[in-house]
Amino acid sequence: MHFRAAFVLPIRFCHRGSLILMSFSTFGLCPELLRALREKGYVKPTAIQQAAIPAVLQGRDVLGAAQTGSGKTAAFGLPLLQQLASTPALPPGRTPRPVQALVLVPTRELAAQVGETVVNLARYLPRRIKVAVLFGGVSINPQMLALRGGADLVVATPGRLIDLVAQNALKLAHVQTLVLDEADRLLDMGFGDELAQILGLLPARRQNLFFSATFPPAIEGLAHRLLHDPLRIRAEPPGDEAQTGAAGKAPAIAQRAIEVDAPRRTQLLRHLIQTEKWTRVLVFVATKHAAETVADKLRKAGLEAEPFHGELSQGKRQQVLMDFKASTVKIVVATDVAARGIDIALLPVVVNYDLPRSAVDYIHRIGRTGRAGGSGMAISFVSAGTDAHFRVIEKRQSYVILREQIPGFEAVEAMTLSVTDPQGTGGIKGKRPSKKDKLRAEDEAKRVDQPSDIEPGL
Ligand code: AMP
Repeated sequence: MHFRAAFVLPIRFCHRGSLILMSFSTFGLCPELLRALREKGYVKPTAIQQAAIPAVLQGRDVLGAAQTGSGKTAAFGLPLLQQLASTPALPPGRTPRPVQALVLVPTRELAAQVGETVVNLARYLPRRIKVAVLFGGVSINPQMLALRGGADLVVATPGRLIDLVAQNALKLAHVQTLVLDEADRLLDMGFGDELAQILGLLPARRQNLFFSATFPPAIEGLAHRLLHDPLRIRAEPPGDEAQTGAAGKAPAIAQRAIEVDAPRRTQLLRHLIQTEKWTRVLVFVATKHAAETVADKLRKAGLEAEPFHGELSQGKRQQVLMDFKASTVKIVVATDVAARGIDIALLPVVVNYDLPRSAVDYIHRIGRTGRAGGSGMAISFVSAGTDAHFRVIEKRQSYVILREQIPGFEAVEAMTLSVTDPQGTGGIKGKRPSKKDKLRAEDEAKRVDQPSDIEPGL
């Protein structure tokens, strides 16, 4: 595979430049896809769509720096469907249909969401495109049945895909396009081996589309190995992606950091929900236990809250999502892994009740709000024990978020370092970092690069 210093298309420029007037019809997409877009209410391509659609249609490899919320699903989905629609249908009786496009995603929620978007976009195409959505945590039998007769496009999580290949339910030898969606999360969640196995089953000559919110060395290495002369698309300069919406309206996501003592976070959350009149909020916690406990406390305080984590049944998770979308549930308290792929249009607020483990997770979490150019707010609760960790996240983003204190909830415990004294030589909390503080800060700094907490059973 070859990789050379490729053309970088800064998408911001697109929005400020002449491309801003571009519409979907300029890509040469077929009328049936344009009709589906109109009905979905997509008037103008988002930045990543403007850059990626023509390149994918030309058959180029793409390396897209884009988080969920940027419109990346349609950025690869539309050209894939256009390509599939233009391949002649198999003569009757010639089955199974060979899988021509494979989209790998890290979680079942994202698989379901990508599948739904693609099916929706394909609904008026004259040639029926068969889409199979495959993920673990549910019985394999219906998926095996669905694969009878083959599929044109497969959206899958890696583990289940390998199981299905092992059972001869599908073959990957005819895949022409591979999409890695949320590639950083695929590796973060420990799917490296499965990915390598799947790559070994694909034809060497194929188109590769690679989307990732962040580019740690492992992802750069993978891109280097996989991609051939890719068009590199950067949705925003590092650190800015959260500040500017997918459709280029700035600022899309207001990031806030509130200092609070850890034991008072639930009370503060309640207070903010009530005083700031949040209509819907997604609250991130570190563990399933915390999801249950926080949701329970909120419910006891009369708020419509539900936990959302990997130990709930798929049915229960779908129900919570539906209720959240319908606004009958206003607060969802979720773990990272469970919340992957949650796509709620206009989700106004995301709260990091527990801080994310890594800067990668931070970007993904705040990507739940301000979707497709809508505005949103991401709030992180920072307490003495997590202060150093939050600074590492800020540093990774080349970004400092002003610390707030909410009257009545001021943090009493000393933070490691202060805002006015980032070197830690004695600051607003009046405390120099002790040796223990420094060790803790070092420990936090190491933790920030560790893979995320993976919930068993996912
Ligand atoms: P994605 O990044 O693919 O998860 O998309 C995020 C959200 O943006 C989804 O709710 C999409 O329906 C929406 N979206 C994608 N493309 C557009 C567009 N061109 N105009 C408006 N909304 C869009």
